[in-house]
Amino acid sequence: MKPQTATAHILIVEDEPELAELLRDYLVASSFTVEIINDGALAVNYIQKHKPSLILLDLMLPNKDGVDICKEVRQFSAVPIMMLTARIEEIDRLLGLELGADDYICKPYSPREVVARVKAVLRRTQASIPLTQHLIDLDEKTLKVCIKSADIELTLVEFQLFSMLYKEPGRIFSREQIMSSVYSDYRVVSDRTIDSHVKKLRKKIQTQLPDEEVIYSVYGAGYKFEPPA
Ligand code: CA
Repeated sequence: MKPQTATAHILIVEDEPELAELLRDYLVASSFTVEIINDGALAVNYIQKHKPSLILLDLMLPNKDGVDICKEVRQFSAVPIMMLTARIEEIDRLLGLELGADDYICKPYSPREVVARVKAVLRRTQASIPLTQHLIDLDEKTLKVCIKSADIELTLVEFQLFSMLYKEPGRIFSREQIMSSVYSDYRVVSDRTIDSHVKKLRKKIQTQLPDEEVIYSVYGAGYKFEPPA
C-alpha cells in the first residue's frame, strides 16, 4: 500500500445511515479517514472546503441529488468520484450523461469490494499512469502481452479485447462496445461469448499477477481495466 492512499480522506455522501456507517467502518479499517454527509445540499460546500481525496456519492439524496453534485464538483475539481446507485439500469443512463464520475457501484454492494475499488481508483488517479502501466506491455506485432517481463500469448480476440480496455484505464466498456470493436464483421456474438473471452484472459493474466485483479466487471455495465499496483 502506498502511503498516500493510506492517509487518503474519503467523503461518503449517503442518506442511509446504516449503509454510510458500514462503509465508513470498512474504510477506517483500511486506514482511511472518513466523513459522512447525509444531506445533498451540504456536499459541494464540504468538498470545496476540505478537498477530500475521493468521494463516494449516492445518487438519490435529499435536497440535491448525486447527478447535480457531480456536475457542480466537476466545475472546480477533478477529485475521484464513485457513484453509488440503487438500480443497475441507472448506470447506463449515468454513463450516457458523461458526468465525469470515475466509477459506478450498484447497491447492494459488498463493502469489501467498495474498498478494493476505492483503492484501485486512488491508485489510478494518484500514480502516474505510464509508470504503473509499465508492469504490463502490449506487443501488437506478436499479439503478446508482457507482464513482469514474462510473455503471455493471447488469441487475436483476447488481444483486441485486452488492448481496448488497457488503452483507457478506468473507462467502462459495455459488452456491446466490446463486441463491435473486437468482431469487425459483427457476427452474431452473445454477451456470454465476451464473458468467456474475459474469463480466459483473466486466467492468463493471473499466471503472472496471481493476487491482482486488472480486469474488473462492472455489474450490469461491462468491463474495465485498472493498472496493477
Ligand atoms: Ca439514497
